[in-house]
Amino acid sequence: LRPQGSPYLEGLNAEQRRAVEATDGPVLVLAGAGTGKTRVLTTRIAHLIATGKARPFDILSVTFTNKAAREMKHRIGGLIGPAGEGMPWLGTFHSIGTKILRRHAELVGLRSDFTILGMDDQLRLMKQVIVDQNIDEKRWPARALSSAIDGWKNRGLLPEQVPPGEAQAFAFGKGGALYSAYQARLLTLNAADFGDLLLLCLKLWRENPDVLENYQQRFRYILVDEYQDTNVAQYLWLRLLAQGHRNVACVGDDDQSIYGWRGAEVDNILRFEHDFPGAVVVRLERNYRSTGHILAAASGLIAKNEGRLGKTLRTEDVAGEKVTVSGAWDSEEEARQVAEAIESLQVKQHPLSEIAVLVRISAQMREIEDRFVQLGLPYRVIGGPRFYERAEIRDALAYLRVTANPSDDLAFERIFNTPKRGLGDATLQALHAFSRAQGVPLLQAARLVVETDELKPRARSGVRALVESFSRWSRLVGSQPHSEVAQTILEESGYTEMWQKEKSADAAGRLENLKEFVRSMEEFPDLAAFLEHVSLVMEASEQEGADRVSLMTLHAAKGLEFDTVFLPGWEDGLFPNQRALDESGRAGLEEERRLAHVGLTRARKRAKLSFAVNRRIHGLWSSTVPSRFIDELPEDSVDVLDAPAHFSAGASRFDRNPTPFGSSYGTPGWQRAQANTAQSGNANGYGVGNRTPTNRGGPRQIEGELIAKSTGAPSAFSV
Ligand code: ATP
Ligand code: MG
Repeated sequence: LRPQGSPYLEGLNAEQRRAVEATDGPVLVLAGAGTGKTRVLTTRIAHLIATGKARPFDILSVTFTNKAAREMKHRIGGLIGPAGEGMPWLGTFHSIGTKILRRHAELVGLRSDFTILGMDDQLRLMKQVIVDQNIDEKRWPARALSSAIDGWKNRGLLPEQVPPGEAQAFAFGKGGALYSAYQARLLTLNAADFGDLLLLCLKLWRENPDVLENYQQRFRYILVDEYQDTNVAQYLWLRLLAQGHRNVACVGDDDQSIYGWRGAEVDNILRFEHDFPGAVVVRLERNYRSTGHILAAASGLIAKNEGRLGKTLRTEDVAGEKVTVSGAWDSEEEARQVAEAIESLQVKQHPLSEIAVLVRISAQMREIEDRFVQLGLPYRVIGGPRFYERAEIRDALAYLRVTANPSDDLAFERIFNTPKRGLGDATLQALHAFSRAQGVPLLQAARLVVETDELKPRARSGVRALVESFSRWSRLVGSQPHSEVAQTILEESGYTEMWQKEKSADAAGRLENLKEFVRSMEEFPDLAAFLEHVSLVMEASEQEGADRVSLMTLHAAKGLEFDTVFLPGWEDGLFPNQRALDESGRAGLEEERRLAHVGLTRARKRAKLSFAVNRRIHGLWSSTVPSRFIDELPEDSVDVLDAPAHFSAGASRFDRNPTPFGSSYGTPGWQRAQANTAQSGNANGYGVGNRTPTNRGGPRQIEGELIAKSTGAPSAFSV
């Protein structure tokens, strides 16, 4: 029996409908890309509300990115109309974890206005802890220890829960002590790192069963998208919450599990059926997204993976255009080809918002961005806190953070002498000593210390001015629009002026960024909401709605779809990525292949792969061979376009071992010797090539054709 007036159910296929209508009890939807898993979740929410089974606030829905959460909000709004009863709790694990943690912060030793640390603050803090513990930072760099701690947090382990053997393997046996000290430092700073947002929820719930029970009661219905990418901490978090009503619906696809390197465990899919016995398991097989060739290419590729749960995908759509593969001389030319192809689509009236460029690593973006900027092609970058990671933005944020949370010592340290105000290390050390002795944050210490004669007069007046400024700025918060407050702070602190005076080439860009920064604040109700947003954004999406090309990493593209998808950089070493292969061997290769599969399945009508024969990564050029994934694509669904001549010959579609600087190319001897080094081992341009001093200058003859690029162009073949 279907409720009256449920147009939202129209158009679902029988299996999708089953997944929507099985409202009570655990449900697991295990299905391939584009089969409507996300659509099932959104419809399910509409259905729960329309049938009166749940009010919006009884529902908790977890998405993988903030962007996905916004999209879901939008879709639900469309389905249920402007609901008077508010919206479901909708967001990423981290944003929902934060929301819960802020409500009960004092139970885990924080205050509700705690700061969420970004990566670089996390590292700075780690460094301090390492120094405090008298550990040689050269032997145990902060990055390594931070990532060990992240790993433990992803597994839901508090310091005292880390298996002793495992903790002892770090930092001369002091791994456990370091982890504890790091956590203690976070508490004094009234701060949490990303991993804490879930870990501390787990702690909160374990230690306060009444709080847990409250949430278990509250969330009558729980939904989880991209379930294959949950890590253990997220799984434990979910399992605790869902034990109340056991109405939990998870949707996922093992073939799209791409966060193993961050602790995600596909096994959570198998664990689900174990922990929630009697779960309704639904499989969806019809892909509604992509045309035949794209789906065939994606399916053919993923079939090479061994560790799969296995599933079929079919489409009733037309075969459509074949997947295209093209090669370029270098990454700059590749960027040019991509941009030109986009322009010609634009001429044919294809909206830019339906075009995406998906890269393997974010370093690939710059050249593409540069090209877009040159051509005036509007684009936006999604994924990765790139904008907010920029130095000038982090400085501006630090000012705001101290204004909002006077005990944010890390932020205070960052801008203590930025712009230069004559406050050196000695002054900072004096403040630190005072802060430790009095047990107060640095800003408070500064306020007290200027009343003593601890500091030299010059330093004292500098510190006094800073302290007074912060008091004044704090008072502005709440009485003035927060973007105006930010503007005032940037001006009065001398920060804007610092960049205005700076003569370097990028100063103008930085000032532009700061303007953009202040502008972006206007979208938030208050400073706290803005700061929270910044800590949580995993994607920097600017001005939604405008017609722009989307540029992002493959990881950030999960769940999204576009008419046309460009996939540059399909070269061994870059993709599959050498680091993943080195670190995780066969499992790494399979994860890379899933990532390729995710990339291809984002496309509705057109997927355009490309590779460059030469690429500069981290400033060093190396020669490359096309990705082995290209060879793995089913031939019938692929069209090879303009590959450099020597790549179309040979037994394979592309000669993947072309000894690019070998004798057949008439390379001068010294280069040949070097290239041979790069070739030994395996056919990968990166691992070895990066470490070899690259071919410097000098025109190079390739199959009789003189490539003179390397002389004039500053970008080519120079280190
Ligand atoms: P992914 O694994 O990539 O996240 P998904 O399984 O979540 O994919 P959706 O994004 O929900 O898939 O759906 C893919 C596309 O197919 C969307 O454009 C969606 O609107 C459309 N779609 C899903 N189900 C149907 C249906 N029954 N009829 C028509 N279109 C559908
Ligand atoms: Mg989806």
